[in-house]
Amino acid sequence: MGRTALVLGAGLGGLVAAENLRKRLPRADRVIAVDRAAVHFFPPSLLWLLVGEREAGDFSRPLEHLARRGIAFRRGGVTRIDAATRQVDIDGETLSADALVIALGAEYAPESVPGLAEAGLNLYTLDGATAARDALTGFSGGRVVLLTAAPLYKCPAAPYEAALLVEDFLRRRGLRDAAEMAFFAAEPQPMVVAGPQVGAAVRGMLDARGIAYRPEHQVKAVDAAARRIEFTNGALADYDLLLYVPPHRAPAVVREAGLTNEAGWIPVDRHTLQTKFEQVFAIGDITTIPLKMGRPLPKAGVFAHGQAETVAANIAHAWTGKGAPRRFDGYGMCFIEAGGGRAGVGKGDFYAEPTPQVEVRAPSLFWHAGKVLYEKYWLYRRF
Ligand SMILES: Cc1cc2nc3c(=O)[nH]c(=O)nc-3n(C[C@H](O)[C@H](O)[C@H](O)COP(=O)(O)OP(=O)(O)OC[C@H]3O[C@@H](n4cnc5c(N)ncnc54)[C@H](O)[C@@H]3O)c2cc1C
Repeated sequence: MGRTALVLGAGLGGLVAAENLRKRLPRADRVIAVDRAAVHFFPPSLLWLLVGEREAGDFSRPLEHLARRGIAFRRGGVTRIDAATRQVDIDGETLSADALVIALGAEYAPESVPGLAEAGLNLYTLDGATAARDALTGFSGGRVVLLTAAPLYKCPAAPYEAALLVEDFLRRRGLRDAAEMAFFAAEPQPMVVAGPQVGAAVRGMLDARGIAYRPEHQVKAVDAAARRIEFTNGALADYDLLLYVPPHRAPAVVREAGLTNEAGWIPVDRHTLQTKFEQVFAIGDITTIPLKMGRPLPKAGVFAHGQAETVAANIAHAWTGKGAPRRFDGYGMCFIEAGGGRAGVGKGDFYAEPTPQVEVRAPSLFWHAGKVLYEKYWLYRRF
């Protein structure tokens, strides 16, 4: 009788975990991936959709295709997790697991800021990015505001990439002079955890493109009728088009399972991703890993990916004795789309102490091509 590895969430982390478990475990062992969505989409491509360079179908795939790779896909909502017994309810059915990998990501809470959801467009969802693309296509001039509604959000580069891509989009359409652009950030600088050098480089890109940058502006409320944003420091900003990154939180099911800490995320061992329960691991955006510099490891697909490989290798090693135990090392890289077919890159050791050691490379055609190739590879490799 084989064992069961149950992967909750088939996003970036869950897909890599399921694939690596399948590759490493004997056929008699089951690998089951669960997701409430029927279709996977590659989140970084939302930024290209925003500026009309992709349609949703270009970067979406049905999750039932996982069966071709020997992974059982169970579509459904995870409604209860009993971490002590490794039992999980999925739409009323209970599944038991010998190992549990929780990769349910972060959910969005735009409603926690009064007026935000009615007033603006959420850059981080397929519907929101599509609506933003339509609004930009019909845009004829005015004030475009980008806003991060809380300092902690996934992919710290993404809203900055969005700003640069939108600026490029407007310029190519001859509308740049008719548009005033501003970026109000809840955080003190771009990509805070990557350090001051990376922050200054990204800020320099915004400055060079005439995008006014206002850090440490925490939104308090938005008045959709007056098209006005109010910040906790008393500042006000008017907009004609508001594009925002919403506040994030862990899905209710893990908060209710007693897996989260006071900040609302799942604490894990920084090298093995084990939770406080035996054979229960958590990876990706749902976790929190404190760094010496005082902020947690950023939420990013690149880390979810590395953590998934580590967890899969360690489960397989524990069950089969094959392979060597692995440790997640905190190394990561990310592309920074700059528009005009160019991207920069930031990469380094985020576990370095006392501060992460991250270097940044200036935008070039080469890195943009790398990002495009990676998108194709991701979809080909997994579906
Ligand atoms: C616009 C944008 C651009 C980005 N660009 C980059 C980039 O260039 N590089 C990078 O490294 N990262 C990037 N990211 C971040 C990256 O997408 C995330 O960090 C990554 O997806 C995290 O993986 P995850 O597995 O933890 O969660 P997700 O990929 O969010 O997967 C979570 C899955 O769990 C499912 N789920 C949640 N709750 C339930 C439930 N109760 N029941 C059933 N299923 C459930 C969801 O449907 C989802 O499929 C970007 C993100 C965005 C939005």
